[in-house]
Amino acid sequence: VTGLYVHVPFCSALCPYCDFAVVVGGEQTHARYLEALAAEARARVWKTERATLFVGGGTPTFVDPALLSRALAEIIDAAAPSHIDEFTVEANPDSAGARALATLRAAGVDRISIGAQSFDDAVLRALGRTHDSGSVATAVRAAGAAGIENVSLDLIYGGPAETDASWRASLDAALALQPQHISCYALTIEERTPFGAAVARKQMRAPDDDALARRFDIACDTLGEAGLRHYEISNWARAGFESKHNLVYWTQGEYAGLGLGAHSHRGGARWWNTRALQRYLADPANARDGEEQLDDAARAEEWLSLRMRILEPIPLGDIEAKLGRAPDVEALRGAGLVTVEHGALALTQRGMLLENEVTARLLETRNQAKTSSV
Ligand code: SF4
Repeated sequence: VTGLYVHVPFCSALCPYCDFAVVVGGEQTHARYLEALAAEARARVWKTERATLFVGGGTPTFVDPALLSRALAEIIDAAAPSHIDEFTVEANPDSAGARALATLRAAGVDRISIGAQSFDDAVLRALGRTHDSGSVATAVRAAGAAGIENVSLDLIYGGPAETDASWRASLDAALALQPQHISCYALTIEERTPFGAAVARKQMRAPDDDALARRFDIACDTLGEAGLRHYEISNWARAGFESKHNLVYWTQGEYAGLGLGAHSHRGGARWWNTRALQRYLADPANARDGEEQLDDAARAEEWLSLRMRILEPIPLGDIEAKLGRAPDVEALRGAGLVTVEHGALALTQRGMLLENEVTARLLETRNQAKTSSV
């Protein structure tokens, strides 16, 4: 399976926490940009038997859906898959209108990922979002009316103005819409964003670790009780509705990223496009901004850090085979961060919150082994 990622960078306003490749407005360049995507696909996308498609942003539903559909048809034509396993478009609740969704459904879209973020209007305002909580329900209904039954909702926790109670209420409101999939991300403060600047100037406090841990536990409990399976640290789904496209990333599969700032991976080589709009528009077939080739050791390390996120226990033998040494798990087990049952390692709920540290500890034993064998 090849994951095809299509980046549509345009948004109606900039959310103060956003670190994606985003262009505010840019209406005069939408059509040119969509043509550039098609040109990049014709020049660079490889043929594949099976594909997943994910149109992300930015706000893909902010551009003309008919023009977007035309570009997507060209991209699919370039990859020529005989089967598309999943075709997702991201949408903001206030731009996911019935007509736009019907056009996208006709183009083959069968899954929509709606950036709900919260169902508390005070939290939405504090996050700088342009929609209110009611518009999410409207967007979900519009998706159903357009024939898009597979709905995912994105939520953010740890934002300003949020409390444990309002987070619980947001989760309940999300569940009431009966989505097949829910993603919950902790608010992260990135340096080069307005929130990053406000935290640096001490005008705002970064989310508190204890509060984030409590909110994560609330999500695990609430979504688990509702019958959604926690299959990746930040993702829950009804059985069979796990994101196929994201699983390509998490299992080190091949993916071709098109558009501004998009990343690609094939056979251990990774490359990424420029984030400069004018450069991209001028020559989309040569928009590559950097590349790297991972050696076997780096690939093994990447495998572990991605594999840890998928909450399926990992046979210790697999880790040993990849890292070239049996991992030392005793200290992690003693600290309550992992369990080992039937020879397979799994993160505890506490361990999920500290997944980066757990992985670093497992890799540390590997790096020590490398040093001592020199
Ligand atoms: S809508 Fe999404 S992509 Fe656009 S600015 Fe907000 S967070 Fe960033």
